[in-house]
Amino acid sequence: MSNPSILILAGDGIGPEVMGEVKKIMGWFDTARGLKFDLYEDLVGGAAYDAHGTPLTDETMAKAQEVDAVLLGAVGGPAYDDLDFSIKPERGLLRLRKEMDLFANLRPAQCFDALAGFSSLKKELVSGLDIMIVRELTSGSYFGEPRGIFEENGERVGINTQRYTESEIDRVARAAFELARKRDNRLCSVEKANVMESGILWREVVTKIGAQDYPDVELSHMYADNCAMQLVRTPKQFDVIVTDNLFGDILSDCAAMLTGSLGMLPSASLGVPMENGRPRAMYEPVHGSAPDISGQGLANPSACILSFAMALRYSFDQGAEADRLEAAVEKVLADGTRTADLMQKGTGKPASTSEMGDAIIAALNASL
Ligand code: NAD
Repeated sequence: MSNPSILILAGDGIGPEVMGEVKKIMGWFDTARGLKFDLYEDLVGGAAYDAHGTPLTDETMAKAQEVDAVLLGAVGGPAYDDLDFSIKPERGLLRLRKEMDLFANLRPAQCFDALAGFSSLKKELVSGLDIMIVRELTSGSYFGEPRGIFEENGERVGINTQRYTESEIDRVARAAFELARKRDNRLCSVEKANVMESGILWREVVTKIGAQDYPDVELSHMYADNCAMQLVRTPKQFDVIVTDNLFGDILSDCAAMLTGSLGMLPSASLGVPMENGRPRAMYEPVHGSAPDISGQGLANPSACILSFAMALRYSFDQGAEADRLEAAVEKVLADGTRTADLMQKGTGKPASTSEMGDAIIAALNASL
């Protein structure tokens, strides 16, 4: 039987730097745990534009559809800011999400104890925090038609359309209910049913699925503006939150910052199962290409490494190995190894990107 396959798209800026550490970790799992993957590598974003004039070639897109999981670094950078919208690096990412139909974006916001002091909130509010935000990723106002900038009555008007079908709400809600069952069994569905018809439908569909198929999961509903307030007031009240594309974009960034640093935040985007039963999936850190620090060995590789841990859990049924990797990251932080983003200036010498990767490998060795 062939090994499970992963397509690595390191991308731009710090993407290749942090991905280098993930490759070391994959090597460790191969030799120490016998977890073998068929690895493929290709270009995305600005790197693909430089080589091929497009942020994602059709060949790369086809490969992404073929493999068991895609692991992406980051895309973008100032060199590409003036490109036409249609060929900007981010279009490569959007194409992957859309064509792989990755409708459920999982964004954990977990506060490692050693980093609780880094949150902008009081330590006691975030210590032990463990939220999962499920954001609908392929519909809603980032994709709805009509969209564009049009002339109307002698002036320009910018239009985007918030649009959700019942089946789009149904599938992301089910993904969230299933996750809640594996966690603390609580799901909060977030919309603005008070002012938006799409929100009214969202609430109806989620309520119906909950009553029919997930009566064991405690379901609550919240308006998105209230959810933003609650996230900074008492974030630990939440377990799983499910919401649409636009609110999810904003709320997941808000929740992310509760945990301290962008350099620690992984994500997974999941689609419908393939023939082999695995969901179509792409894993990527939440952060971007960080042009301000790229090429200097300063990037924190943890977010990308933790994204690989999510791949182990959600694509490859290796929950125990995912736990092992997450525990290794936690141990390294608890022992005091920090990249620059996790230190106050002038409080010692930060670990470099590769030193952080090496420390995580040492902690993995110690776990055997
Ligand atoms: P960014 O996430 O790249 O950086 C924001 C800040 O966080 C910077 O100060 C950066 O140095 C720091 N940071 C980010 N990741 C870090 C890490 N792993 N370790 C240490 N510090 C880290 O966001 P930005 O500056 O708004 O965007 C830069 C570029 O990245 C833009 O071109 C943007 O379009 C792109 N971007 C891409 C993605 C993606 O690929 N998914 C996401 C966001 C932004």
